[in-house]
Amino acid sequence: MIMKIKVDERGYYGNYGGAYIPEMLYRNIEELRESWLGIIEGEGFRNEFDKLLKDYVGRPTPLYFASRLSEKYGTRIYLKREDLCHTGAHKVNNTIGQILLAQRLGKKKIIAETGAGQHGVATATVCALMGLECIVYMGEVDMARQKPNVERMRILGTEVRAAKSGSRTLKDATNEAMRHWINHPTDTHYIIGSVVGPHPYPEMVARFQSVISSEIQSQLEDEIGRKNPDHVIACVGGGSNAAGAFYHFYEENNVNLVAVEAAGKGNETGQSAATTTLGKPGILHGSKTILMQTDDGQVVEPYSISAGLDYPGIGPVHAHLFETGRAQFLSATDDEAMRAGVEISRLEGIIPAIETAHAFAALDQLTFEPNHVVVVNLSGRGDKDLDTYIKWGQY
Ligand SMILES: *Cc1c(COP(=O)(O)O)cnc(C)c1O
Repeated sequence: MIMKIKVDERGYYGNYGGAYIPEMLYRNIEELRESWLGIIEGEGFRNEFDKLLKDYVGRPTPLYFASRLSEKYGTRIYLKREDLCHTGAHKVNNTIGQILLAQRLGKKKIIAETGAGQHGVATATVCALMGLECIVYMGEVDMARQKPNVERMRILGTEVRAAKSGSRTLKDATNEAMRHWINHPTDTHYIIGSVVGPHPYPEMVARFQSVISSEIQSQLEDEIGRKNPDHVIACVGGGSNAAGAFYHFYEENNVNLVAVEAAGKGNETGQSAATTTLGKPGILHGSKTILMQTDDGQVVEPYSISAGLDYPGIGPVHAHLFETGRAQFLSATDDEAMRAGVEISRLEGIIPAIETAHAFAALDQLTFEPNHVVVVNLSGRGDKDLDTYIKWGQY
């Protein structure tokens, strides 16, 4: 059976997705919904997007055969090196796409939300590149925790505004950004950083990130003479690097798709961010998806050592992949991820982002044949996480 993982016109992946928005946002979302596909499929757009990905971001990123890691797990493991993208993670693939879209929509100002600051930095970067004004909302607590990224954004000319309500983290920054957009609907584009939010954002972000799986296919074809691996493994916060790494494999049913969530201090401890294990269907940030909530539907605060995975929901495409069984969902605790991060550093000389370390931690939970081809999406580099590695201390 061929599994269709395509979004429908109303923005649904099976039972999940859609656009659950306040009336005040209707005009902005409608404008995007009507124009995004026509714009990004235009030849001029494609050429400019591809050229910037090549000359500015540094694509294609290598698909690197990790021989010492392969030996340890008794299989053939390749790493897709998104850590080598400009700004150090996959997020810039999406912000390049959205800034080109914003220009074509005639928008003069950009807003974004950020948790750990990686999406904020990627947005500030493309705004500097294009000379557009940029405001990034960030929770006051996150601003204190992620000081270097706050300063990076400021050096790049972005105004960072503190979200001071609620838990003063990502969820609150998202609320502030939405509120700003409602008040500035005509001249401002909102760059969402993952495959979340109301339709068309989840599919739009996935399309920009799908360059990852498109490159994996042509690189494997060159390297081993077949375009499909046996397994693709990626970590999931909102799910943009995973959606990009899975995109061209959705309908290749021999490819095992593995999504790894953050289990924090353990799924039974009440301090976790493993949405598919702990969550139920509901509505979060404009789409129907699976999210962590109390019995009466209040969002539960997630926890993970990794700020990029510390999100109470997942993108609607992942809710659908989970419900249909097309992807396998695993989770890794803080300790498992930190150990895996140090292991990759020692075996391959690559210090991964702590988000990415969760994907590596899943290698222990899977079984491989010696001739299997396994691709791990190395979503980002670990420089930003040095303080967390130091605090953990076990290396
Ligand atoms: C932000 C981030 C993630 C999590 O976001 P997704 O949308 O799930 O990809 C994962 N890895 C890195 C390096 C990140 O910066």
